[in-house]
Amino acid sequence: MSADEKKLSAAESLRKTRTYGKVRCHNPSCMGRIQPEPGADRVKCPTCGMEYRLYWVNPRLPRIRGPVWDVARKIREQKLAELESQMSKKSTKKGGK
Ligand SMILES: [Zn+2]
Repeated sequence: MSADEKKLSAAESLRKTRTYGKVRCHNPSCMGRIQPEPGADRVKCPTCGMEYRLYWVNPRLPRIRGPVWDVARKIREQKLAELESQMSKKSTKKGGK
């Protein structure tokens, strides 16, 4: 059926444009798709907030070089601080003396 063929080719071209110029978030708990600005040297994941340094294989094909450690550390510290405040709340509920 020619209609099916048309559908398939449309889906295929859509898939191509969707993956075009995008990178996958390296955060294992996120794995979101990120579309960097053309030529940008870093990109922020809209899903988890992680930032990555980029290099460009060619002007249209970005790759993640590695995380921006300042941002990674900030996110980790925020989570740690949240955890600590939760812990201290619990320990004050228990009460010392
Ligand atoms: Zn992410």
